[in-house]
Formats: sequence, structure tokens, C-alpha cells
Amino acid sequence: MPMIRSQLYRAILSLVALVVAPLPLGATDHATPQPPANSPGNPSGENLPAGLTEPEADGEAGRDLSVRRFQPRSRLVLPRTEIHQAKFPVVDVHTHFFHKLRHNDEALRDFVGLMDRNGIRTCVSLDGRLGDRLDSHLEFLHRDYRDRFVVFANVDWQGDGADDDPASWACLRPGFGERTAEELAQAVSRGVAGLKVFKQLGLGYRDFDGTLLRIDDPRWDPIWEACGKLGIPVLIHSGDPAAFFDPIDRFNERWEELSRNPSWSFHGEGFPSLDELLQARNRVVAKHPQTRFIAAHLASSEHDLKQLSEWLDAYPNLYVDIASRISELGRQPYSAREFLIRHADRILFATDGPWPETRLHAYWRFLETKDEAFDYSEKVPPPQGLWQIHGVGLPDDVLRKIYSENAVRLIPGVAQRLAKP
Ligand SMILES: [Zn+2]
Repeated sequence: MPMIRSQLYRAILSLVALVVAPLPLGATDHATPQPPANSPGNPSGENLPAGLTEPEADGEAGRDLSVRRFQPRSRLVLPRTEIHQAKFPVVDVHTHFFHKLRHNDEALRDFVGLMDRNGIRTCVSLDGRLGDRLDSHLEFLHRDYRDRFVVFANVDWQGDGADDDPASWACLRPGFGERTAEELAQAVSRGVAGLKVFKQLGLGYRDFDGTLLRIDDPRWDPIWEACGKLGIPVLIHSGDPAAFFDPIDRFNERWEELSRNPSWSFHGEGFPSLDELLQARNRVVAKHPQTRFIAAHLASSEHDLKQLSEWLDAYPNLYVDIASRISELGRQPYSAREFLIRHADRILFATDGPWPETRLHAYWRFLETKDEAFDYSEKVPPPQGLWQIHGVGLPDDVLRKIYSENAVRLIPGVAQRLAKP
């Protein structure tokens, strides 16, 4: 009986997640799921891994083993390089100080301490929005720590439109692109250093007829153009990991994660293919050569570095950040090392943080050492694929470019902040 109840509970939970969880405006990436370790349906009270409610399939006494319970402990005996501080000053160009800290001053103070310990000089918060929220975000970060943070604004697609009525959204009214361009100019005069575009453009926002708004819709051209004229980069997140566009079945390499978070899947009807999304993004980059684009998360081509390399060759105004993607780079260390060195001028350090300190240590270890087979995350199971990673041991000149020099060239205000002692 308790088993049936718990199954029902989980079924309802996933249904609710599927039905009522549209992409929240601030949703960013897929590394922060925190499902309850023990759902109320777990009759034994045993400390089961997230998402698991039944005591069966524990792999013991000849019983089968659920993939969710598989937590192999490596028997490899290998050198372990502990790096608690980056070798050179760091700029993290992809962080979320509204979505993750919710304007909590104490959490901010703690995180600045962590930045100091780790050698992170400046973080770029991508949560500025526009209007009043921009003011409060600037106030939150700049009141005590102006020298440590720069802020990117966001397009206000919704405006005063209703959540459940896309047709009422500001972005569908005539002149939206031009109005946003003006607001951006004002935001820059208040200290904003860039524009962040969330992945909902292409995967969430809808037109009058219910179809998804396209990334390369000419209605947004005035926005991209304005950023070029204002000298600020556009950090744009399009698409998601390739596996999120595949069916959630036993062949899916991110099954563990998607089975717990089915609403993260973009497989099936109603969604464009990953390739369609990325081609649309690339057309925008090509159409606005005077604007510099930082395509977030390795431009969502972390699974195909050859393709990404070709894009970087084709579009001189395209840059990429590595936020939340050491899990991918580190499982193809030879290709990744070659890629990072070849395009060292175009790659920016980023984490998608704030994260716990252990996560940052994994970034230093990945970029600076040739350690083998280590965890890319502090979480169990590893949140972005059930594997470990290997370090790429980058040369100093490449590290310097990725850690800060490219950000200095690209993002207004970073150079001045780094110059401070
Ligand atoms: Zn993000």
C-alpha cells in the first residue's frame, strides 16, 4: 500500500512539473535541482538518493540496482592536486546574484569572501533586468562592492503583460525593439555593462499565434544594433545540452537528471531542434558584425567542439563562455585542450554561480592541472552526467586570456576594476 501511494505521489509530482512549470523567466541552467532527498512517500525513512522512493533495486543480496542508487567509488590511485585559488586574477562573466542570492546581503558578503579566497576579482551578474529591478540590483551589488561586480541588463519581454497571456506581452507591441534600445542606452548611462538574453528566447516566449518567438526575428534587430553602438556585449543563452532534445529513454546520456526534472526536456512537438535554434542564433551574430556576442555555455555546442570551432572561425564577433560546462569539456580532455588553446582569445571564464567553494575548486583543477578522473561537482550523483572529468593543464598565457584578459577587452568597466589593488 505505501508503495502504491508513493508511486502515485511521484506521478502527480512529475505531472504537475510538466503542466504548470513554464520556463521561469529567470531560469538559467540545469545544474541546480534540489529535489527532496526523501519524498513523503518513502515508507522506510531510509536515506535514499534524490528521486528514489523505493528500497528495492539496491544492488545488494543479488537484487537489481537502480541507476539512481549507483554511486561507484573509484579505486584509481592518482595524484590529487588541491587548488584553492586560481593561478591568475579571475573574472567570472556568468553569475546570477538575483536568481541565486535573492538580494540577501549576508549571502553576498559571504560570497565576496569566497571570491577573495579563490582569486576571483570581478563577477558579472546577469540578472539586472531593466527599470526598478535594475536600480535595486545595482544598489544591492554596488553599495558595498562596486569594485567587484558589473551588471548586465535583460530585455523586458513581458512588460506589464499577463503571465498566462503571451498576446499581452510588451514584446509583441509595435516599436518594442526601438523602445528597448532606448532603455538600454539609459541603463548603460547608469552603469550597465552588457545585455543578457535568456534561453526563453527560442524556447519559451510566444507570439500572438502561440508559436515560439524566433531568436532571429527582425523585430529584435534594433536591440542587437543598439548594443553594438553602445559598446556593450550581448551574452546570449540559446538552446541547452543536446541530450535535452533527445527522448528521455535508456539511451539518453542525461537520463538520471531528466527523469527527475522532465520539464527540462525540449524533446518533441512544439519545440525547434537544437540545430534550428543555434542556426537562428548564428544568423543574428552574422547579421550584426558590429555587436559582440558571448554565446553562453559554449554556445550549446559543447558536444561538438569541431562545429563550435568552425563557428568561431566564421564569426569574428562571436565569443563563448564555459559556464557549467567543465562537465562536458573534461570528458573530452584532448579535444577540449586543443580547442581552448586554439581559440584562447574568444573564450571567457564563467561558472553560472554563485556555487559552493568546492565547485570553484573543480574549475581551477580542470583548467590548471592534468589530474585524471575527478568529480566536476560537489553533488551526488553528479548533476550533469554520471561521469568524471580530466584536467586540461592549460599554459599560463592561455589561462590569463580565459581568466580575465578577454573579459577586459569585451566588457566595459572590468579593466578599471582589475586595476584596483
Ligand atoms: Zn546562467
